[in-house]
Amino acid sequence: MIRRPLELLALTLAGGLSGVWLAEGKWAPVLGSLVGATIWITLDNVRAARVLAWLRHGHAVRPPQTSAVWAEVVERARKGFKALNRKARKSEARLQEFLAAIQASPNGVLLLDRNASIEWCNFTAAQHLGFDSKRDVHQQIRNLVRDPVFIEYLNHGDYAQPIEIDGRDATPGHPQRISIHIHVYGKGRRLMLTRDVTALEQAEAMRRDFVANVSHEIRTPLTVVSGFIETLLNLDLSPEEQRQYLQLMDAQAQRMQGLVSDLLMLSRLEGSPAPGGTEWVGSQALLEQVTGEARALSDVISGGTHRIVIEPCEPFDIAGARSELASAMSNLLNNAVRHTPAGSEVRAGWRLTAEGGAEFFVQDNGPGIAPEHLPRLTERFYRVDRSRSRETGGTGLGLAIVKHVAQRHGGHMQVDSTLGQGSTFTITLPPSRVLVA
Ligand code: ADP
Repeated sequence: MIRRPLELLALTLAGGLSGVWLAEGKWAPVLGSLVGATIWITLDNVRAARVLAWLRHGHAVRPPQTSAVWAEVVERARKGFKALNRKARKSEARLQEFLAAIQASPNGVLLLDRNASIEWCNFTAAQHLGFDSKRDVHQQIRNLVRDPVFIEYLNHGDYAQPIEIDGRDATPGHPQRISIHIHVYGKGRRLMLTRDVTALEQAEAMRRDFVANVSHEIRTPLTVVSGFIETLLNLDLSPEEQRQYLQLMDAQAQRMQGLVSDLLMLSRLEGSPAPGGTEWVGSQALLEQVTGEARALSDVISGGTHRIVIEPCEPFDIAGARSELASAMSNLLNNAVRHTPAGSEVRAGWRLTAEGGAEFFVQDNGPGIAPEHLPRLTERFYRVDRSRSRETGGTGLGLAIVKHVAQRHGGHMQVDSTLGQGSTFTITLPPSRVLVA
């Protein structure tokens, strides 16, 4: 710092001495000193101007070569620029990371300014609401989402609860519901979160239907049983009549029992891990067990007139859960007895596939199933002929159980049916589950 005044002093003195040396008279040294001082001030101004020019252009231009003090100013400014740059780059990188995280969110995120124009949005929000996340930035959200429910929500300003609107791609056959929740932040800015709730709504609708169906299925036999109880209590019936009523009550109780056990089976299938590959079950033993049950059922409902033919197959072992496999096979075989008239023929058995897997098939020559029903057969409580299903003790859950069991064993169930000719149900198991001795 001392250098600048020394420089000024030196130039002023040099000017004064030069004045004495070059001219005569008492004003000559003063004039010389003034000239020396002016030269220093001019030089200093030139250096200041160069530093200023560099500062104006920032770090992009090379720093000027200059005298000590200005050099220090330049150096400090340069370091300042560098530090600022580093900070800015860091902030930018963090901002980009932050935006990338919001982009990766499964939910839509959208920022609205005071005028409800889009400041920023992620791809998911743009997809949910049907606009372009880049092109439509700065557009008024009102012009892009015109659903009256949304416009009302946006204008009203009461954002305590989310709203739901149809997604842009929604069609009657392919519904899409989007939930929108707005949160106010900053000075009049709004954060808008969007979520695809289609699956959630469908699951909720399925749950409601399921509860309604179960209640209905249980209420009917329960009403019948309580009616009989009332009759038995109030009427003076002969022992024979009482026996008849008790038999009818027993049938209804069995129906409820069947329903409860199928429901428990389904909930076990849905709530437990798939059977591993360590328990091996013999194909022949399973077949004998379920055939015996089907013959007993035929005795009850058609006086044993169904012709049940078991096709021979080389015995093998299956990796899976015995009770599940038996339940699935028995459901198919019993269905073939229950849904075909007396005297029908049912052919069933195992066969090994060319790939090394196995198939259990049940073929009947009954009434068959119209094509429009086929895709819905495995829905819970879906029946083609409601009254026949109930009369024969059906719960409407059998094929849902079969489908689950097949899938849990890595396989699938298939139905082939022709109206008036009959149906064939097949469970296919993959090679990994089959061991031929
Ligand atoms: P259910 O207890 O009513 O038999 P399932 O889920 O086992 O319920 O079957 C669903 C429906 O599929 C049945 O109600 C019946 O209408 C139809 N179905 C199943 N198997 C046969 C079959 N072999 N022949 C004709 N229809 C069948």
